[in-house]
Formats: sequence, C-alpha cells, structure tokens
Amino acid sequence: QQEEWAKLKNESTLTADNQQVDLAANIGTPEEADNVLEHGGEGVGLYRTEFLYMGKNQLPTEEEQYEAYKDVLEKMGDKPVVVRTLDIGGDKELSYLDLPEEMNPFLGFRAIRFCLENQSIFRTQLRALLRASSYGHLRIMFPMIATLEEFRDAKAILLEEEQNLKDEGQTVADDIEVGIMVEIPSTAVIAKQFAKEVDFFSIGTNDMIQYTMAADRMNERVSYLYQPYHPAILNLLSNVIDAAHAEGKWVGMCGEMAGDATAIPALLGLGLDEFSMSPTSILPARTQIRGLSKETMTSYKDNLLSMGTAEEVIEFIKDKTE
Ligand code: PEP
Ligand code: MG
Repeated sequence: QQEEWAKLKNESTLTADNQQVDLAANIGTPEEADNVLEHGGEGVGLYRTEFLYMGKNQLPTEEEQYEAYKDVLEKMGDKPVVVRTLDIGGDKELSYLDLPEEMNPFLGFRAIRFCLENQSIFRTQLRALLRASSYGHLRIMFPMIATLEEFRDAKAILLEEEQNLKDEGQTVADDIEVGIMVEIPSTAVIAKQFAKEVDFFSIGTNDMIQYTMAADRMNERVSYLYQPYHPAILNLLSNVIDAAHAEGKWVGMCGEMAGDATAIPALLGLGLDEFSMSPTSILPARTQIRGLSKETMTSYKDNLLSMGTAEEVIEFIKDKTE
C-alpha cells in the first residue's frame, strides 16, 4: 500500500471518471511545509498562524511574521498557500494579552472579532502577509466570519494596508485571493450573499459542527452530539458549495472531516473542490478518490440530504462504497 501511495505522490487528484479535485494540507509551522511536499500535497489549504503568537511572552513582530510567511510561500513555489489570519480565543489563549475570562470562550471574543477591535495587531499581520505575497501563491483567509460586515471591514483594512505598502514602494502580488472560513451557521445559511463578495470559502467543520449542534467540541459529555454526518451538517455543506459554484467561486474544507475516509465520497458528491487535511492523509485520500466516480457520488446527493439521522447517512455511504 505504501508503494501504491508513493507512486501517486506527483500525480494530480482525479476521480475514476476523471474529475479533478485538489488535495491540500493543514499546517501550523513553516517547517511542516516540507511534510506537505513529501506527502504529495497540492498546496496548503490552511496555515494556522496562531503558532507564531503562542508559546512566547509577546506578540511576534512584523519582521518575524514576514520571514515565516515568506518561508512557507517559497517552499511551496507555485502551489497555493491559504494563510488564515489570527484565530485566538476559544481553546487558543494568549497569556500576554491578558484578556478577561469569559463564560463561553467558544462563543466569545475570538478570531476576527478580536482582530477588528485590535487593529494594530491585525494590521501588522496583514502587512507581513502582503510583503511576503510576491514570494509564492498567497491566499488570505479570515476566520470566524459571522456577518458580511465583518468580512467587508477586514477586507477594507487589508486593502488599506496594501495601499500603504505600495505608497512606501513595496511590491505586493496582484493576484491574492481573499476568502473566509465558513464555520458559523449564520454564514453557511447566507452563503449565497457571501459568495458574491469573497473569492473562496473554506469550510471549518470542527467549529461548524459544534455551533450547529450546540455541542462544545472539547466537552466529552456531549461528544455524542458532535456528529459530522448529521443531515443538518450535510445540508449546510451543500448550501455553501452550491452558493459558491453559482458565483463561480471554489470551496475547500479544512476541518478534520475533509480527511475522513467515510466523508470523502459524500463530499465529492456534494461537489467540494479542495480537501485540506493533515499531510499524512493526502496519499491515502488520493488513492481512495481514484477509485470513486464523482458522477455516481453526485447521484446520491438528494438521498444524503433527505436522511433523518447521522447513522442512516453513515450506513448509506458505507453501503454504496464497499
Ligand atoms: C475548523 O474550525 O474546522 C478549523 C479548521 O479551524 P480550527 O480547528 O483551527 O478552529
Ligand atoms: Mg475553527
């Protein structure tokens, strides 16, 4: 099996009926970009930048960040790299910021909410990203977007910093796509409106499942409700994918679900364009996808969306793919 995987390392990802999808990887540090290439990744679908801010006692400087982003972009060459702006809060704390404790951190002051209120921290990150952009194929993504205003505000700040850099005579790539994580149900429900304004979506199922099911992703006692295959989740995914495609935009998924062998056939059927997972899952996923017909999976879409329980969904997928 290892040998079969190795043969596919430099191949593109095609289904049995020759439809192409992209298999990218999630990383948290620049060093992990090497793993992505070793495992045949076609890009980075999620670079979690929190690591730059964690495990130290002060904020990273613009220069430190610039070096890290440039490093990843250079390693990946023309392969796209989706960098997610700072997503602290929830389970990711920063001791030196001394933020007040919250009753419900996952529903609290985190990610884009924090960045829009702490603009100097946000602007430093955006400047570092924009300066690094000419070293590779950069895509910028905002986390935890719940409203269109948040996206518009974040994008406006990005454009301001781009202008500032240009005024200073710095080079900025002119093809940077700007997208959002879809991980809050409000955004998934009005994906149609968002799709007119963003360049791409990446679905964060880790959070989307917890918010849709009202089941804390860290709480063991309610983990039975944390159901990736719940029909509500599949219907949200389908809504997001269809909305994006209607506007000619692409949709990725960077939550754990994207690398799950049971989910992959269903996600193909729903029309997902890019799957982003841990580097070691890429070659097994590519092997699996080569054995699946996208047309056949698409023909199951209405069945999947009309089921009543997660269990029925899982049974159905297993039955159709075994
Ligand atoms: C997600 O929510 O699915 C996601 C990829 O982001 P994180 O796990 O970092 O919250
Ligand atoms: Mg998330």
